[in-house]
Amino acid sequence: MGRLEVKIYPDPCLRIRTKPVEQFSRDIKQTLRSMADIMYVSRGIGLAATQVGLGLSVLVVDAGENLMNFVNPVILERSKKKSRMEEGCLSLPGITVNVTRAAEVEVRAQNEEGEFFIKKFDGLPATVIQHEVDHLHGKLIIDYLDPIRRFMAARKLAGSGRGGSGKTCEVVCNAGEGYNGGA
Ligand SMILES: [Zn+2]
Repeated sequence: MGRLEVKIYPDPCLRIRTKPVEQFSRDIKQTLRSMADIMYVSRGIGLAATQVGLGLSVLVVDAGENLMNFVNPVILERSKKKSRMEEGCLSLPGITVNVTRAAEVEVRAQNEEGEFFIKKFDGLPATVIQHEVDHLHGKLIIDYLDPIRRFMAARKLAGSGRGGSGKTCEVVCNAGEGYNGGA
């Protein structure tokens, strides 16, 4: 597979709605490993496939406990109890947003072998997982801002000179139907 890199807003890859992974071949394990590497190198605590230009329902999280792989994650339950945290995002350098989310979530996903698991999370992992699942639906933390603040955040990002390169979604296109880990 080609080298993956973190896509920076307003890269269109960040707005992709991902497709489920159907084949658990060596490719998916390789993708998960590459994503974890990128997450650690970038000092992130979570990374979703859209952030590296892949249109797949895949994310990795390490919120200080251990590395967790989530393939085809679904949030089955969100607690009524809320938690508000200041969140950053590798794709939105320099931006933080206070986001209110469920304090606890129950998640169903598959591991790298395709085996289903259901697990409950609270605290930081719960927030990170909800942040990353948002990514898989093309949603970003700036979408939680009112229009004026969102405009200001977008302007700040544009000023940082790290916006989309124009040459972006090749990997997504290749990863669409019948993903085979190529590109
Ligand atoms: Zn993010």
